[in-house]
Amino acid sequence: MSGVNRFLRPDIARMGAYTPIEPVEVLGQGYGYGISPEKLVKLDGNENPYGCSPRVREALASYPYYHIYPDPEQRELRRLVSEYAGASWESIVLGAGSDELIDLVLRLTIEPGDKVINCPPTFGMYPFCTEVCGGKVVTVKRDKDFNIQLAKVKAAIDRDTKVIFVTSPNNPTANLTSVEDILELVKSDIVVVVDEAYYEFSGLTVVPLVSRYENLIVLRSFSKWAGLAGLRVGYGIMSPELVRYIIKIKQPYNINVAAQVAVRQSLIDLDYMKDTIRRLIEERERLLVKLAGLGFLKPYPSQSNFILCSVADGRARKLHEGLRRKGIFIRYFDAPLLQNCLRISVGKPEHTDALIKALKELWEG
Ligand SMILES: *Cc1c(COP(=O)(O)O)cnc(C)c1O
Repeated sequence: MSGVNRFLRPDIARMGAYTPIEPVEVLGQGYGYGISPEKLVKLDGNENPYGCSPRVREALASYPYYHIYPDPEQRELRRLVSEYAGASWESIVLGAGSDELIDLVLRLTIEPGDKVINCPPTFGMYPFCTEVCGGKVVTVKRDKDFNIQLAKVKAAIDRDTKVIFVTSPNNPTANLTSVEDILELVKSDIVVVVDEAYYEFSGLTVVPLVSRYENLIVLRSFSKWAGLAGLRVGYGIMSPELVRYIIKIKQPYNINVAAQVAVRQSLIDLDYMKDTIRRLIEERERLLVKLAGLGFLKPYPSQSNFILCSVADGRARKLHEGLRRKGIFIRYFDAPLLQNCLRISVGKPEHTDALIKALKELWEG
């Protein structure tokens, strides 16, 4: 064996990489169109285009203790998030993004060869983290309407199955999973992780059920609604016993002090943040009507801050590339059940207008 491979875990050497989205500086330069970051229309990351609360910026500028390590037990934040989420502080733990919690939950539960059920099309982080942890991904596809196929999931569960991920609203399909379906999965004695990264745009949650089921974990994020994607903060709600184990295995200082300041101010400025959420939900409905009105796109209904569309004539890739050349960035998919699909994050009204204009030009041109 040549190079460094002889030192590596063979499964890691073989596994595929996660495809992340790129930051604006890279998008602007990378394609050589000389578009400055402020001019880009970035609708590919489901980020909040209004940004974080202005209070966050002010508090970060004047914070005096960047030289001091943060609290490894996250006491203040767990208390604040507890009030926001309506769960006891003992049942809450924060991660560097909910991505870190996906990894921690799997590290806590998966031994090499253990199985994790993944229901695509969905968020790519679940199979990625499963493989890094040496687990085996068991794929049970969603149906044509992107609902989880309960009977097939149950049939796939065996002695080695430890965890299933349920994303609600799902990414990239933007539909919910019903509480009844989640309860049905909770009855199987495996860990059910409900990823509610987009909860604030749907209003539907299973958080009140966590105190009743020790195998139910809810993950949430400050990245999407609170405009803090760049600071990396998410949280999990689960049985206090599981929280203690997560705290036991996590990096002690996983939530940096800047993130702590930002969360504190975002929750103080909740009315402001709720206003941006309301604007995004309104804009989602306007965008949906405009996309459907084009005639060559089929947008799916959305309970989230993005819209999935399939494209007539198999031209999704062309549209995606054409938009990119105009400085408009969206996501293109070509996976099973997502053939010829685009995912568009909801932006400001001017972003919708620029997108619709560009789509018309590209379709006619
Ligand atoms: C964006 C996203 C996350 C990641 O959130 P972070 O808190 O930024 O790590 C988790 N789950 C889903 C479904 C997402 O779309």
